[in-house]
Amino acid sequence: MPLPPASPAPLAMQRPPLRLSCVVPAYNEAANLETFLPALYEAVRLLSAECEIVLVDDGSKDETQALALHMAERLPLQYVQLSRNFGKEAAMSAGLDYARGNAVLLIDADFQHPLPLIAEMVQLWNSGYDMVYGVIADRTAEGAAKRRGTQLFYYLMNRDSRFRIPENAGDFRLMDRKVVDVLRQLPERNRFMKGLYAWVGFKSAALPFVPDARRSGQSTFNLHRLGALAFEGLTSFTTIPLKVWSFIGFCISLAAIFYGVYITVETLIFDNPTDGWPTLAASLMLFSGVQLLSIGMLGEYIGRIYDEVKRRPLYVVDQHVATHALPVAAPG
Ligand code: UDP
Ligand code: MG
Repeated sequence: MPLPPASPAPLAMQRPPLRLSCVVPAYNEAANLETFLPALYEAVRLLSAECEIVLVDDGSKDETQALALHMAERLPLQYVQLSRNFGKEAAMSAGLDYARGNAVLLIDADFQHPLPLIAEMVQLWNSGYDMVYGVIADRTAEGAAKRRGTQLFYYLMNRDSRFRIPENAGDFRLMDRKVVDVLRQLPERNRFMKGLYAWVGFKSAALPFVPDARRSGQSTFNLHRLGALAFEGLTSFTTIPLKVWSFIGFCISLAAIFYGVYITVETLIFDNPTDGWPTLAASLMLFSGVQLLSIGMLGEYIGRIYDEVKRRPLYVVDQHVATHALPVAAPG
């Protein structure tokens, strides 16, 4: 699979010593976290002068809280407990808000993102890249329907957008502090992170990887949720769903004109009056259907505007516990 074009190689630069924040969104992952947190710490401990783990508990209903508080005694950990399940995108935003390092790693709690890759990410960051993201190199393990759906999604996204969302890039990524600061400034409530990462720009490099199997539990992203996420992405970053209706409206109007001419010719020239009732009933139903659909699509966008103007916070924090956390990152 061809990799998305990387930014031109950055000029050699001297980075300050790495102080890494690892943001881990977790929803009912206690079974994984028990082994994952120590393994993550082991993987980053030697790469980074100082490091911290920011565990965002996205309203878990299992023993995540007790486990995290226990782990916080022996690992440099910030435990951020959200007041309910806000979804992975909001959990990651919370993590970015609490991360204090000069670079931030986003990683899933289920071992699907290979830990050895972090060293390579850090190396690329050191060589001047501001964002290093993992690209799933092999999706054969996923069902054909999911693969096709993903392909269609990226095709639609990248047709319209002025910036390119790299295909198959997930949330597994290392970002420099300046990227994180820009992401945090973006005001939108509907956060489609994959789009936002691409929107902010900066020198980026892709690292192909094959995701491991989930260690324990099940993915919460079923087909329905993935579909909703894709729709969120399309409506947040493109106006394709609106334009489709202009196009359909145009085609139907054109067909109606031709049909009108045909009826006129049939009646006036061939003296062949057309039986109008079935045509009328069918076309009436078709047009009301199309109109309702297009109004519904407008409604989706208006709903999104409504969400934005309410300006509710992205997430609500119930509890925040920090042990040996990094000092606050210097601005700039
Ligand atoms: N996650 C979360 N909130 C949610 C759903 C998931 O914080 O509402 C976390 C989850 O605990 C995991 C990561 O997001 O660390 C990826 O979730 P999952 O493995 O279910 O998704 P997939 O790997 O299938 O994309
Ligand atoms: Mg997973």
